[in-house]
Amino acid sequence: MPQYMKEPNNPMPKEWLASEHSLQKIASYKPFNFVDGEGVRCSLYVSGCLFNCPGCYNVVAQNFNYGHEYTQELEDQIIEDLSQSYVQGLTLLGGEPFLNTQVCLKLLKRIRKEFGDTKDVWSWTGYKWDELMQESDDKLEMLSYVDILIDGRFLEAKKDLTLQFRGSSNQNIIDVKKSLAQDKVVIWDKLVK
Ligand code: SF4
Repeated sequence: MPQYMKEPNNPMPKEWLASEHSLQKIASYKPFNFVDGEGVRCSLYVSGCLFNCPGCYNVVAQNFNYGHEYTQELEDQIIEDLSQSYVQGLTLLGGEPFLNTQVCLKLLKRIRKEFGDTKDVWSWTGYKWDELMQESDDKLEMLSYVDILIDGRFLEAKKDLTLQFRGSSNQNIIDVKKSLAQDKVVIWDKLVK
């Protein structure tokens, strides 16, 4: 099939479960960056994704066995880095964070315990918002700890490098708390483009 006709995979609700796929591995950790969301952020790239988007920005991290194990030492380092006053929050990327809920939930619960809502959480996902709403309990629990979600597969046909924090125009920057409260997608109120 020609490259331009390829499409990402489209799972049925609850078809992919972290419990069946995640090896709880980390592709990389990048503290104190300015590119993965608003403000200064610490970014955790988890390993493993099944969407297989043509043109994926991080192909190596599609492999669930890529990288290294998530350790208590790394978690402690992330918490220490986040405690710096100039750090706005944590960003989860991948790979697919929602197929690594074991790692992400453990970390997010600790962040809320130690920092309350003084640090925000951004997460990327290949799932669309409406798909996530039909997903497994672990994914929905994880979503409840996220402030901003960038949703949807990367689609080469809709690629646009001028967009804020997104690679293609089908993706949205979603205010999670407002969306859950209003039971509809509410776009981030700081969206410029
Ligand atoms: S959802 Fe993201 S990480 Fe997964 S294949 Fe698509 S672009 Fe790559």
